[in-house]
Parts: sequence; structure tokens; C-alpha cells
Amino acid sequence: MAIDASGEWWRGESAADLAGYLEELAAGGYLVGRVVEAVCAGCGGQAFRLRADCAEGAVERSCVGCGQGVLMLDSAEYWSDAEPEAVVCPCGADVFDVAVGFSMRPDDSVRWISVGIRCVADGVLGRCADWKIDHESSRHLLATV
Ligand SMILES: [Zn+2]
Ligand SMILES: [Zn+2]
Repeated sequence: MAIDASGEWWRGESAADLAGYLEELAAGGYLVGRVVEAVCAGCGGQAFRLRADCAEGAVERSCVGCGQGVLMLDSAEYWSDAEPEAVVCPCGADVFDVAVGFSMRPDDSVRWISVGIRCVADGVLGRCADWKIDHESSRHLLATV
């Protein structure tokens, strides 16, 4: 793991650096207890194009390898109201490694979700959205990255 925080943008060497980045960020002010990297169920690929509505808290990832699109986590519930925009790195590239940081409640349900991205072209790290989870039985979300 190696995060370069010296420049204007933090950079990571690999998708694994997203874990350290999300933990450092602590979106919503909550400690990130778990980080799950997104993997395409269709082809096992880990590079995605993204469309996100940051205000609504909804993200769609599309696999670069096979084109399979997935509404991440509970995004499907909000997608009809969302105004998603393509996510683009400051460098202009639009292909990312994706990982989700989960902040857990003491009862082990999910309190907060943050979606971290790493530009495959230049390694710049970013957060494309984060949102609160209100439903109580939310542990299943860990399997819906
Ligand atoms: Zn795929
Ligand atoms: Zn970039």
C-alpha cells in the first residue's frame, strides 16, 4: 500500500490503496470499518465507468471489460429520482477502480457508505458519493458493492 499525498490530488498505486484512502477520509465523520472492492460479476473485471448522483446518493458502475451495468448498493431505490452524471477524473480519463467503505453501527448494521474511486490512468483517488443508510437490516449491503 502506498498513497502519495504530496500533490494536489492523492494518488494510489493500486485498487488496494482505496481502503487506506476511505479510512482516512471517514466520510460523514464516521470511521470506516470495512472496505469492499467492486468486482464485475459477469467477467471478474475491476475497471469501471461510473455515473453518479452525489446529492441523491446513487451510483451505477459499468464494467469496461464486458459492459455489464450494476446499480451499486441500494442505488436502485433512488435511481428513478436521480440525475446521474458521468464521473471523470481531473485528468480527463473515466475508467476507475472502485471500492466501497462501510461505517458500521454498534449492532453491526451499516450506517454510512462512501464510494471511493481510483483513476486507472494516473492513480488519482477520489470519492464519487457517500450517503447515509437508514434501514436497520443493512448488512446485506456488504454483498451489493
Ligand atoms: Zn465485466
Ligand atoms: Zn486520472
